[in-house]
Amino acid sequence: MKVVVTYAGVPAKTKVDDYTPWVTSTNGAIALGEPEIAAWWFPSNDHPRDKATYSMDITVPKGLEAISNGTLRRTTYGKKTDTWSWRTTKPMTTYLAFMAIGDMKITKGVSAKGIPWLNAVTVEKNPTTRRAAADLARTPEVTDWLATQFGPYPFEATGGVVPAGKPGFALENQTRPVYPQEYWTKGPNIGIVVHELAHQWFGNSVSVKNWKDIWLNEGFASWAEWRWEETHGGPSANAAFKEMYDARPASDTKFWNVILTDPGPGDEFAGAVYDRGAMTLQALRNRVGDPAYHSIIRGWAKKHRYGNATVEEFIAYASKQSDEDLRPFFRAWLSTAGKPKPSAELGFPAEMIPKS
Ligand SMILES: [Zn+2]
Repeated sequence: MKVVVTYAGVPAKTKVDDYTPWVTSTNGAIALGEPEIAAWWFPSNDHPRDKATYSMDITVPKGLEAISNGTLRRTTYGKKTDTWSWRTTKPMTTYLAFMAIGDMKITKGVSAKGIPWLNAVTVEKNPTTRRAAADLARTPEVTDWLATQFGPYPFEATGGVVPAGKPGFALENQTRPVYPQEYWTKGPNIGIVVHELAHQWFGNSVSVKNWKDIWLNEGFASWAEWRWEETHGGPSANAAFKEMYDARPASDTKFWNVILTDPGPGDEFAGAVYDRGAMTLQALRNRVGDPAYHSIIRGWAKKHRYGNATVEEFIAYASKQSDEDLRPFFRAWLSTAGKPKPSAELGFPAEMIPKS
């Protein structure tokens, strides 16, 4: 059955409860958001479980760039307008579809491992955009490195976009994350590039079944930043774990009381989902050992490639692969309020466990 939906709208004028995820800039606009955005610019069954492939034709005033997901099939040049046609060949959830229109410089190539990449950076010239462009240029290198950690890259292309305008957050849009300039105001920031590209495996290929499963996205992408650091001359992941643990006193209930198996409406993107989420994975690594840990996360990415999964399924999978009942371990880290006390059972680094 083929369904044709004809529709029209002015996204910038549409607000729900006085809120709009639609971002405009001096010379363009960005459709970017999680989980709200898709309904602002295309009709869809806006749920992460309803994946599809996409073709997008974006007509813009002549001279502007229109960037989206996947591969640029063609640009059709008209008298007053140009049309940019993009196509994704792998399943994608609605919120990962994006569009960025503006005056941007495009660079492209193929990574050492053969993945085509395309970056687009706003033409505004200042130290911030220069730093952003320098880190974005490492996208092919980071994508290839992540494949050594998590298994083959799941998509047909990689890249990144730094648009004009202020979305206020970075997002892991499929094949081509979008980053706000202000993430580079203080200096280089390769960590955000590692984070958003790690989501291509965890979040985009393996997607949440329900939004309460968001730890499967953010915990994993945050842990990937620690792993990058420890393999690129930075502190070990256990050092990052200890720093995070020590920085958050037990009285910080806003952090320690978030239930990561179901953060609840409004807390899907709480700091704990990211930071305690990354600690949980590093603790799992300490608990089961490096070989088992790496095979669990690679196996997980493979088992659910292009699909959807739940936290409960991950717990069962990790238990089966390590041949240990990890339910009490995950209960303490993910679904018990309060700061866990250092122990070997909970996967704390040896140097943090008190000698009795
Ligand atoms: Zn993230």
